Amino acid sequence: MSAIESVQSPTTKADWQALADAVIPSLETRAFIDDAFVDAVSGETLATLNPASGETLAQVASCDAADAELAVAAARSAHARGDWSRLAPAERKRVLLRLAELMEAHKNELALLDTLDMGKPVSSSLGDIEGAIGCLRYTAEGIDKVYGEVAPTGDDSLGLVLREPLGVVASIVPWNFPLMMTAWKIAPVLAAGNCVILKPSEKSPLSALRLAQLAKEAGLPRGVFQVLPGYGHTVGKALALSMEVDCLAFTGSTQVGKQLMQYAGQSNLKRVYLECGGKSPNLVFADCKNLDQVAQHAAAAIFHNQGEVCIAGSRLLVENSIREAFVDQVVEAAKAMQPGDPLDPASFMGAMVDETQYRSVLDYIAKGREEGARLRAGGKALEGPGYFIPPTIFDGVTPAMTIGREEIFGPVLSVFGFDGEEEAVQLANDSDYGLAAGLWSQDIDRIMRLSRKLQSGQVFVNNWAGPDMTVPFGGVKQSGNGRDKSLHSLAEYTELKTVWMALTP
Ligand code: NAD
Repeated sequence: MSAIESVQSPTTKADWQALADAVIPSLETRAFIDDAFVDAVSGETLATLNPASGETLAQVASCDAADAELAVAAARSAHARGDWSRLAPAERKRVLLRLAELMEAHKNELALLDTLDMGKPVSSSLGDIEGAIGCLRYTAEGIDKVYGEVAPTGDDSLGLVLREPLGVVASIVPWNFPLMMTAWKIAPVLAAGNCVILKPSEKSPLSALRLAQLAKEAGLPRGVFQVLPGYGHTVGKALALSMEVDCLAFTGSTQVGKQLMQYAGQSNLKRVYLECGGKSPNLVFADCKNLDQVAQHAAAAIFHNQGEVCIAGSRLLVENSIREAFVDQVVEAAKAMQPGDPLDPASFMGAMVDETQYRSVLDYIAKGREEGARLRAGGKALEGPGYFIPPTIFDGVTPAMTIGREEIFGPVLSVFGFDGEEEAVQLANDSDYGLAAGLWSQDIDRIMRLSRKLQSGQVFVNNWAGPDMTVPFGGVKQSGNGRDKSLHSLAEYTELKTVWMALTP
């Protein structure tokens, strides 16, 4: 039995530490290109750090344009070979379900890698891995139930509408949910018969490389799934500018999303699907029942995953008649959500991903103070080592303040007051973003009225972020244009082809 297998079911901090001690010496740190683990062509590496300690975990291959060229050539040749792109959907399903099984068998290890790499609590990482496995299973199960169409023609013709894979897709993902965002971005792409080149974030490449080992074991053919760790401005940019990549499937910041659209325009007009940032409003009306429970949800909506969540409920909009008392309840709820050792399963929050993100969040907190918001909780980093920031709550925020407009991507809640529906909607929609919105009320007419008026890809009514794989996930405005999850995601990675036949009636 290997050292990793000997830590069967970790439940305590000591168990997780033992698993970490077993996993770290055997980390895969090379790129996965054309079915082989290889060093970057340049030989360069980049350090990936454990943000809970600030220590280097591993030196990982730092790919650039030369590696991108090799991976694109391997993917093109795999696509042309057709042993994946033309494989019967039911067969592709079988391989992807096998990959899901392998992920299940290694889920503790995968969760641990995300926790070590980006600082989130291990209990949270375990939930992410379940989500990633569920995404793979759902999408694999879906692919042999998607039909083409027969057009409503006259008897003298037959119009077929076929769905074909796009070809080569570059999936570029962020660090905040490393493996779950990866699953959302690769499962529909692979299920639809495409080849994927995955570019994980330079801040969290470890679980993607472990996934490559499992994908090889599951039987994905050569060149169909490849992983290029490295920086965005090197290997990410090279993939985005490639004339041989047919589509970019991106999750990350709005700023980089805009650059990718430019790269597509400068190269081959590849499709660009973007899932970008957010500044999501969470609207609480005075008619809510159980305000203490709503306060728990409102706190979790921002402090889960240290606030490093695209759909974080970072703007809390509260009807003025209950605001003072409700904010007291949110402050109380936040006391139980303090950061702790990410390897401790009892920790609610972990460490910020790195020093840059930590400094950026602290700068926003300083701006909140300078611009006159009222600090109700937190506001000061914990003593080192590691990059820990406690739940921070500002009341009296206005749309003119920086913390009321910009995505902070950290545990900072901005509370606004409103009087009546009209002002609530006006404040909620006063944003460049439109990823998610929350609505807490007992009035079904109001719920339906506002669900339609809120400019958002998704509206959570009397909950926050509960939806499963059956519904689409994505944004409007500058939050992006793509949709992850649900069967709609499969459609994004297929091309419609018309076959028009003349018949003798
Ligand atoms: P980021 O945009 O800095 O990086 C995302 C990915 O893009 C990384 O892999 C990075 O290396 C790569 N990249 C950077 N510059 C590039 C370039 N010039 N060309 C090609 N690739 C490049 O974002 P991040 O800091 O990793 O993640 C945080 C952001 O992601 C937040 O804005 C968050 O809201 C967003 N996000 C959105 C969703 C969603 O579903 N809408 C989900 C998670 C995170």
